[in-house]
Amino acid sequence: MVTSKPHAALLASPGMGHLIPMVELGKRLLTHHGLHVTIFVVTTDSAATTSQILQQTSNLTSLNIIHVPPIDVSDKLPPNPPLAIRILLTMLESLPFVRSSILSTTNLPPPSALIVDMFGLAAFPMARDLGMLIYVYFATSAWFSAVTLYFPAMDKKLIESHAENHEPLMVPGCEAVLFEDTLEPFLSPGGEMYEGYLTAAKEIVTADGILMNTWQDLEPAATKAVREDGILGRFTKGPVHAVGPLVRTVETKPEDGKDAVLRWLDGQPADSVIYVSFGSGGTMSEDQMREVALGLELSQQRFVWVVRPPCEGDASGSFFDVANGGGDVAALNYLPEGFVKRTEGVGVVVPMWAPQAEILGHPATGGFVTHCGWNSVLESVLNGVPMVAWPLYAEQKMNAFMLSEELGVAVRVAEEGGGVVRGEQVAELVRRVMVDKEGVGMRKKVKELKLSGEKALTKFGSSHHSLCEMSKDCEVHVQGS
Ligand code: UDP
Repeated sequence: MVTSKPHAALLASPGMGHLIPMVELGKRLLTHHGLHVTIFVVTTDSAATTSQILQQTSNLTSLNIIHVPPIDVSDKLPPNPPLAIRILLTMLESLPFVRSSILSTTNLPPPSALIVDMFGLAAFPMARDLGMLIYVYFATSAWFSAVTLYFPAMDKKLIESHAENHEPLMVPGCEAVLFEDTLEPFLSPGGEMYEGYLTAAKEIVTADGILMNTWQDLEPAATKAVREDGILGRFTKGPVHAVGPLVRTVETKPEDGKDAVLRWLDGQPADSVIYVSFGSGGTMSEDQMREVALGLELSQQRFVWVVRPPCEGDASGSFFDVANGGGDVAALNYLPEGFVKRTEGVGVVVPMWAPQAEILGHPATGGFVTHCGWNSVLESVLNGVPMVAWPLYAEQKMNAFMLSEELGVAVRVAEEGGGVVRGEQVAELVRRVMVDKEGVGMRKKVKELKLSGEKALTKFGSSHHSLCEMSKDCEVHVQGS
């Protein structure tokens, strides 16, 4: 039986880098494909930034947003647990609420599909029990998706050789993963992380469909490799769809409602400002921050730098803190003495959280020093901004490889002995993007990618077509049938 308008429930895991792409997917399904959409937002606290992001989507009154009551799992975790474990447990604890909300849906048809990200796999049994289709949304590249989908079929000996002899990890149809760029679970085959990732990958391939926030022309080989008729297709139960680039769109605000940093950008020449930010969680040591500050001064370029209090040894240290928003300019005492004063007029330091989508979309922004989180990468590309790739954790090194080696839209930070990247290198890379001829070439390439990304989302584009297919599958599937 075909129902007129299917209903998809989206489960967003904690963290802005997870919430933002899920909200964008929801908006797209609603506005371009006519689905009813409910987004369950899972947070660990009453996150201020989360509310802000959601407020920006509130013009879409028909987007049904349900806040799962804040979940605190700290008493169930060992001291300093890995970030992924904390997120996974939080997601697990959210399920009773999600289930009862789905069951008590009255104003909309019962959802026929559940879309989760890699942290929401614990919802599979619930979705199956309720007769819903299950989609896993990789808010990242087709290359990373391919590595994950292929993982259960990989020969463990190859991974051991990758870990021990530092040989590249071969993925059929895709670029091999260099040891220097590899994912943490592959570093200790048979270890806890490895087994956890393997279990997750085995579960993911059983989903009714896979969605990826990328587009065919950006990653033709990897997209082909993971598609149903592709090289890896036989490993997934359902079709694999490239549906991106889905990034935050910004609304022009009236002058008095504008953020101070955007007003400052208004007064700067076109393409003259380098934006420096390490995502929603990226945190650096005090030594490293001192070198970034030095590098910015040496580069003699205008800048906007989003800063967080330093954190030794945990590059994702602010992941849960930034969502609480705020940050006191006066408390920038962790920056080198006199830095803020010396750079007055040339640069702006923004504590904790900046309106990134608006900054990257501003004509004055000409380059982006980024940790290569996939949302940041897409936002930069879609605004035609070349990058300095400075990966910190998760799959960011693979993203950095793609940007610098394959696509030619970024220069990459080279790791230095002692783990601290020196200011001289920072300055050199910033100037290569902002001043040198090399930067002009990168800007041209990134603008071509921007056009190709926009094309993928048009009515006849590949990503639009993919979401049409997915929506059709939801339409013919009736909950519980
Ligand atoms: N972001 C922002 N302001 C900030 C830091 C991050 O708006 O000060 C947004 C950014 O635009 C992106 C998301 O948060 O949409 C971060 O996602 P990404 O995948 O780049 O990195 P993650 O935070 O997941 O490491």
